[in-house]
Amino acid sequence: MEISVRHVRKEFDRYPALHDVSLDIRSGELIALLGPSGSGKTTLLRLIAGLEFPTEGQIFFGADDASDKSVQERNVGFVFQHYALFRHMTVADNIGFGLSVRPKGTRPAKGEIRRRALELLDLIQLPGLENRFPRQLSGGQRQRVALARALAIEPRVLLLDEPFGALDAKVRKDLRRWLRELHDKTGHTTIFVTHDQEEALELADRVVVMSQGRIEQVGIADDIYDRPATPFVFSFIGESSTLPVTVTNGQVLFDGSALGLDASEPDGPARLFVRPHDLEIVGTGEGAISGEVVVVRRAGPVRLVEIEAGRARTRLEIEVAADDDSHLTGTIHVRPKRWKLFPGA
Ligand code: ADP
Ligand code: MG
Repeated sequence: MEISVRHVRKEFDRYPALHDVSLDIRSGELIALLGPSGSGKTTLLRLIAGLEFPTEGQIFFGADDASDKSVQERNVGFVFQHYALFRHMTVADNIGFGLSVRPKGTRPAKGEIRRRALELLDLIQLPGLENRFPRQLSGGQRQRVALARALAIEPRVLLLDEPFGALDAKVRKDLRRWLRELHDKTGHTTIFVTHDQEEALELADRVVVMSQGRIEQVGIADDIYDRPATPFVFSFIGESSTLPVTVTNGQVLFDGSALGLDASEPDGPARLFVRPHDLEIVGTGEGAISGEVVVVRRAGPVRLVEIEAGRARTRLEIEVAADDDSHLTGTIHVRPKRWKLFPGA
């Protein structure tokens, strides 16, 4: 099912939670909504679900304007961060719940619901657990059951709001891979909310980066990481440092001296964004950024060197190999191999 969000604005008591949001989701796609807390991810998901309605704009499911339709009419499946399994029901009854409450006439027979629940237990790789109660399952197992329950109604769209948010890091990582495989098997159009960039970049076909009720960028992981469209995306995704610079006649100046980088941006103040592995330590200060080393620390397989550069003592982080034996004290000089310039102070 394709979903098209068109110029949606959502206000809560006149406070805008979403500004002018437009987004096209393709049929069968696994999309991540990624952004810090309060950026509007849950609001956008609830609007798509039919749990909230837009103040302005429309939401299309295929060719149908679904903006005023209910959750049932939209036929969506949900999973939230805090497992909402029914504690007094077995796993099989939990999975079959959505089918068992259908109106007479559309409700499958009991045996059929049971058969469907067992089939879904196989799909989520928890065969044999049908008679357990939620309290007898681990957190990760409960979230898988919640997913099976969402799938049982054969939804047109699967909506997941930080479904692994309450689980510990190792379980989250496993479930991430598991969800990707499940998605590839079932092919449901899936919208997945997370504030974890690693989760979004690894899992999703495309990532929607949100900030302050707006979409900053939509793209595949490589676009988001290597070609960030806005300063926000650059700083939010991956590690980066920002240097205040000035553009003059196509040259980038830091602290009054040219860095030897060509700029096509207009003259005036700008911000130079650079990632730690795109900064190279060089021998002389000419055309380079010079700074005092303040910290050297180990980060997994590499070392990170932090320097303070310029009169404003701007912090820059440089990645070096763990076995790099350069003299990493006092003043060092670095040059960006790759960078991105955004106009404005
Ligand atoms: P996220 O899921 O990205 O953390 P939300 O969509 O939950 O963000 O919230 C976006 C903004 O809208 C926040 O400022 C939040 O306080 C506000 N908001 C969300 N839901 C409501 C509500 N029901 N009433 C009032 N404000 C809300
Ligand atoms: Mg949220």
